[in-house]
Amino acid sequence: MRSCNPRSVHELAITESVLSQSLAEARKQGATRIRRIKLAIGEGMSIVPDCVQFYFDSIKKGTLAEQAKLEVETVPLRIRCKKCRANVEDMIPTCGCNAGVDIVSGQELNIDYIEIDKPPARRSGFRPKGSKTQEGGQESKCKRQESE
Ligand SMILES: [Zn+2]
Repeated sequence: MRSCNPRSVHELAITESVLSQSLAEARKQGATRIRRIKLAIGEGMSIVPDCVQFYFDSIKKGTLAEQAKLEVETVPLRIRCKKCRANVEDMIPTCGCNAGVDIVSGQELNIDYIEIDKPPARRSGFRPKGSKTQEGGQESKCKRQESE
């Protein structure tokens, strides 16, 4: 395994922020643990995914994400001319419009989704006497944050 340059504070800060956001979300949903975190990182962010992975494995210990898998998807950098919308390679427009460029993608840093485990829904308790409408509408429906 390639190890991380100790100077990659950039990746460390990013990894810490990803972990804390995921933990906050997991807590909000009452998770017992995080199984997977899917991250999308734009190519233009100059983030080394291996580095994020490395830091993640070291800072996740002792948290809800201790056994979580981090999946990193790299989003390709796509740049276009503002005027004719021609694709621009390596930041150098070749179309000659001289109109500047739009960065279409490649600058994202998103948590796509997290997969969590929840405690089994409690069957007892929480049932006021005389109430007949306890079937639907309870908050115990398992909401999983998953989007693929
Ligand atoms: Zn152009």
